[in-house]
Amino acid sequence: MSSYIRIDGDGVDLVGARMIWRKASSGGRAGFVFQLTGHGGRHVLHVAGWAPGEAITDLSGQVITIQSPGPDCAADGRLFSLAVIRFGRVRETSLVASIDGTVEDLDPGSDARSELESDIRATVAASQDPRWCLSCGTSLEPHVTEVDEFVGGVRVRMAATRVLCPDCADFAEAPRFCPICGSGYDPAEVRTLSADGAIGYTADCPAGHRYSGHLGG
Ligand SMILES: [Zn+2]
Ligand SMILES: [Zn+2]
Repeated sequence: MSSYIRIDGDGVDLVGARMIWRKASSGGRAGFVFQLTGHGGRHVLHVAGWAPGEAITDLSGQVITIQSPGPDCAADGRLFSLAVIRFGRVRETSLVASIDGTVEDLDPGSDARSELESDIRATVAASQDPRWCLSCGTSLEPHVTEVDEFVGGVRVRMAATRVLCPDCADFAEAPRFCPICGSGYDPAEVRTLSADGAIGYTADCPAGHRYSGHLGG
């Protein structure tokens, strides 16, 4: 099965799709925030929501209706007014799902609505949250806080971690340690956009993690 998106009957094949997830509870219930994205030429599909479960494979067979999609639910530059995601089998590394929804024009003067349907076969991966201070390499685990957010119209609570430990909060130089695995960067693999103030950077660690961000400001 290939992935496709069809809007008002016009179909396009998607060349790639993936789902990134992170643990998030809602009303005290364990679950996951998920972001499904698909690409096919100029066509882009992006759907974010929350589903209950203890393991990501618990999404298998679930039907998630997003009644009040936010700006994180869009297709082809149009926002969803309703989206229904039917998960088929969800594994640790891949899934199949179908998405049905209504998308509306961004132009507030237009009430044009289109029906969208999409079948996707996607790769699955956990989001990579920072675990190590990129300045000194110390563990960030003691500094994890929780944030409340709305995702797909659902209030969720999830862990949030700054990429710097409190001792390094003012650090604004080139990153030294991979926030994902803690290994030291080869300076040649750290690319910064400017040498002072807010530094935008992209760095590749010896284990192959690519991390981008900016510091200071
Ligand atoms: Zn530090
Ligand atoms: Zn790494």
